[in-house]
Amino acid sequence: MHLKYCQRCVMPHTKPDLLIDAEGVCNACRAYENRRQVDWDQRKKELLQILDRYAPANGSNYDCLIPVSGGKDSHYQVIRMLELGRNPLCVTATTDYLTDLGRHNIENIKKLGVDYIEVSVNPQVRCKINRLALRQVGDISWPEHVTIFTIPVRIAVQFGIPLIVWGENSQNEYGGPANAAKDNVLTRRWLEEFGGLLGLRVSDLIGQDGIREKDLIQYTYPTNEELSRVGVTGIFLGYYLPWDGLANALIAQAHGFRTYHQCVEGSMVNYENIDNGQVRIHDYFKFLKFGFDRATDLACMAVRRGRLSRQDAWKIVRMHDGKFPWSYLGVPLDVILKQIDISFEEFVGICDRFTNKKLFACDARGNLIKDRDGNLTLLGNALEA
Ligand SMILES: [Zn+2]
Repeated sequence: MHLKYCQRCVMPHTKPDLLIDAEGVCNACRAYENRRQVDWDQRKKELLQILDRYAPANGSNYDCLIPVSGGKDSHYQVIRMLELGRNPLCVTATTDYLTDLGRHNIENIKKLGVDYIEVSVNPQVRCKINRLALRQVGDISWPEHVTIFTIPVRIAVQFGIPLIVWGENSQNEYGGPANAAKDNVLTRRWLEEFGGLLGLRVSDLIGQDGIREKDLIQYTYPTNEELSRVGVTGIFLGYYLPWDGLANALIAQAHGFRTYHQCVEGSMVNYENIDNGQVRIHDYFKFLKFGFDRATDLACMAVRRGRLSRQDAWKIVRMHDGKFPWSYLGVPLDVILKQIDISFEEFVGICDRFTNKKLFACDARGNLIKDRDGNLTLLGNALEA
C-alpha cells in the first residue's frame, strides 16, 4: 500500500483522525488556514472574561490550575498567565524516565514564580503498566497519557479550583468547555474521550501482573459528583492566544528554559520532547503503525507556517523519520528496556507485531526487510506531485 499525502503538507492519510478533502488538503492544514482569520484581540478579551468569571472572590484560592510538563509550551502558559496577573497552581505528573534536562526545566518553571505540585506515581507499578501497554497496544507511553490528564483534574477537585488551563488542543479548534455559557462542567466521559486511550481502559489493568485497584488511584478521574461539586471546567490557551511551538520555545528560553545540545533523535528540532527518555519508543511505534514519525509532525507545522517548502520538508522527514530507537536524549535503548524488564529480543518481536506490513518492504516470505541497524524501508517512498 502506498501512502497518500496531503497536497500541502507531508502528512500521510494513515494518521488517525486525519481527513484529506476533495482538493487533497488535510484538515490540519484547513484548520491552520482558518486561524489566519482569527481576531486575536477579541479572543484575548474572551480569555480575560473567562478568567474573571472563575477568579475566586477574595483571593482565597488559586485563579486556575495549569497542568505543566516543564516543556516549552508549559513555560509559555505560565509566563502568559503571570503576565495577565493571575495566580495559578501548577501541577506536573512526573514523566516515566525524567532526563536531567527535564528536571532542570521543571525547577525553572517554579522559579518563574508559582506554587507547584509534582505528583509521582509508584514506579514499580508504573513500569508494569509501561510493559503491559507496550505489549498490548504498542504504546509504552500509554500510562503517561493517562496520568497527565487524570492527575491535574484530581488536584483541581482536591484544591477546589474549577478552571484548568490546558495548552493546545490538537484535535479541535475550540476554546474548551469554559467558553460555553452553560453546562460546561467536565464529565468523566468527556475527559476519557479527550485522553484517547487506544481501547485499553484503566480498569482493564486490574488483576494483570499483580496490579490492584488501589494501585491505580492516580490513574482514575474523580467521579461526576466530585467534578460538579467543584464545577471543574477547562480552556485551551491555544484558542485564545497565538500559539507557535518555535515562538513558545524562544520565549521559554528567554526565561531560563534549556534545550538539547543537538537535534533530538528522530526529530528535527532541539526544543521539544526533551524530558522523557522513553519518548522515542512511543514515536517509533507511530512510525511502525502509520508510516510517519515525529519529524513529520514538526515538518508539517513548519510548512503550514511558511517556514519550509513542501519539498524541503519532505527531504528533512526522510532524513529523520523511522530510525530504529537505539537511543534517545543520550539514554540507550537497553537502559529503558531494563527499566521495564523487557529483553531486546522481545522488544524487536513487539515492534514486528505492531508493524503495518502493508507499509514496509518485505521479502518473498513476507518477513520485514531490515538494514544492519534494524531500519525498515517505507514503501512508495516518494512525494507525489
Ligand atoms: Zn496538510
